[in-house]
Amino acid sequence: MVAENWPAAQEVRMDTDVLVIGAGPTGLMLANQLVRRGVRTLIIDRHIGPSIETRALGVQARTLEIYSQLGIVDRALELGKRGTGGNIWANGRRRARVGLSDAGQKVTPYPFLLILGQDDNERIMGDHLRALGSSVQWNTELISLTQQADSVNAVLRLPDGSRRNVLAPWVAGCDGARSGVREASAITFAGAAYEHVFFVADTEMTGSMVPDELNVYLFQDGFHLLFPMRGKDHWRIAGILPPALRDQPDLKFDAVIPSLHTEAGALSIRSCSWFSTYRIHHRRAVRFRDRRCFLLGDAAHIHSPVGAQGMNTGLQDAYNLAWKLAMVVKGQAEPALLDSYEQERIPVAEALLNGTDRAFRVVVSTTWLAGLFRTQILARVAAMVVNSNAVQKRAFRLISQTGIRYPKSFLSKSLDSLPESAPQSGDRFPWLRLKFAANGPIEDLFQKIGDTRFNLILIGQPPLAEDGIGLGDLLRTHVIPSDPVNDVELGRAQIPNPSFYLIRPDGYVGLCGRRFSADYARAYASQSLHLSATMRASRAAPS
Ligand SMILES: Cc1cc2nc3c(=O)[nH]c(=O)nc-3n(C[C@H](O)[C@H](O)[C@H](O)COP(=O)(O)OP(=O)(O)OC[C@H]3O[C@@H](n4cnc5c(N)ncnc54)[C@H](O)[C@@H]3O)c2cc1C
Repeated sequence: MVAENWPAAQEVRMDTDVLVIGAGPTGLMLANQLVRRGVRTLIIDRHIGPSIETRALGVQARTLEIYSQLGIVDRALELGKRGTGGNIWANGRRRARVGLSDAGQKVTPYPFLLILGQDDNERIMGDHLRALGSSVQWNTELISLTQQADSVNAVLRLPDGSRRNVLAPWVAGCDGARSGVREASAITFAGAAYEHVFFVADTEMTGSMVPDELNVYLFQDGFHLLFPMRGKDHWRIAGILPPALRDQPDLKFDAVIPSLHTEAGALSIRSCSWFSTYRIHHRRAVRFRDRRCFLLGDAAHIHSPVGAQGMNTGLQDAYNLAWKLAMVVKGQAEPALLDSYEQERIPVAEALLNGTDRAFRVVVSTTWLAGLFRTQILARVAAMVVNSNAVQKRAFRLISQTGIRYPKSFLSKSLDSLPESAPQSGDRFPWLRLKFAANGPIEDLFQKIGDTRFNLILIGQPPLAEDGIGLGDLLRTHVIPSDPVNDVELGRAQIPNPSFYLIRPDGYVGLCGRRFSADYARAYASQSLHLSATMRASRAAPS
């Protein structure tokens, strides 16, 4: 990307609050979240239309929870295939089966990995964006950008080849691993490339695989992952290219078939609809924000596909930023709230890079010892995991991304200490089914609270006399009545009585403690949420 020296373009002030560069999964999620929160959003992509490559395949439980809030989960579930477990094979024998649904049963309404291609995810989000009255401007490329005190000046190439200046207060770089927004912001993408070349192939075939489940084949020199896809006998194969094939130009799927037969047993391959190879990097942008420009998704972090985390992490970057940006754009919060975006998401990316790097090195190392570890020890460890509920639950929380926490964020505060086993500030508030009225029905908490407001959950204490926080319409309060059903649910989640939880729009606990204090909550809203002067004035005004 060139940052300067373009011929003077005709300056047109676009009526947009946020310019989103890139309509991959991350950009589409951000645009959806902003538009439904009433933020004027312009989303562009240099491609001529939606991608038809499957690429990422695994949709994690936390993403499905977000899809549910967005109103697209039913469509995703209808199109996808539920992966309820994984099987580990070593030297041709099935060594272990790890069930996903048992471990996640009480954690989330979606205790499985949904196998749904990235192209389908993008299509569903694109359709929903259109239903919200907005759409992607395809064939439109960001050429350069410069930041000013109160806006960003972006030069775009339009479909007819002409250039246009767009002034936007905020720019979101969802423009992938080679992000021009990152380059123009002079943010280093620290990390390196692995020597290995990965391949992916979408095939129709039969073999020893357990249907509808992930099958992992470990062997002396590496691994193959086989994901079930929509349709009978449709499988995604992912693995490392044999070194001899690495530098071959125009490599075709046929070239990897012999190694597949050797390592994954007798396969009967009928066809291959997509084959691609790519070199994997592990890199992270050193900052996720430069003044008015943000980096999200692959623009901010890339890593090995082990664990099916890439697309999901980008979607959650977008979910984290959207409500904050909406509050700032609408004048409800000061821009200082936006500092929490990178404060929260950099540690997530860092942990992801470290975790996937360690796992990747174990599964790709070609030393004799690593081969022995993979085929003898790893498979046995996996078999032991099957028998440990606690390990399974930890693994589910990690992989499903329901365990992501922001304990060190300046938005995470506790009034007084809750027992260690209770949900803490910065945690995703647990999924519960509660009675919200003494004689009312049992309701799904996530559905009840939605994701466009803050929610204050009061347990074992009376309702607030008035708007005790100053969030006005942005706050809903729920007093959880004493009831045997509620006692069991709260007990299961180790939520003490009395206690209170202020849940952020994205479902994480902002403030919590034993007894709610309006003074403390007001200070939290001013100092941590950085409520704007307008919001503070409106709460001070007599009602
Ligand atoms: C072959 C392959 C297989 C993969 N398999 C997996 C997998 O199995 N599991 C997994 O988790 N991940 C996988 N990934 C990674 C996954 O696809 C990414 O993590 C995901 O696409 C990131 O989404 P994103 O929206 O952040 O970026 P992208 O999907 O890269 O989207 C960026 C968008 O920005 C647009 N853009 C870029 N520059 C500009 C510009 N200057 N102006 C306008 N538009 C611009 C691009 O056209 C693109 O549409 C795979 C990737 C590849 C390449």
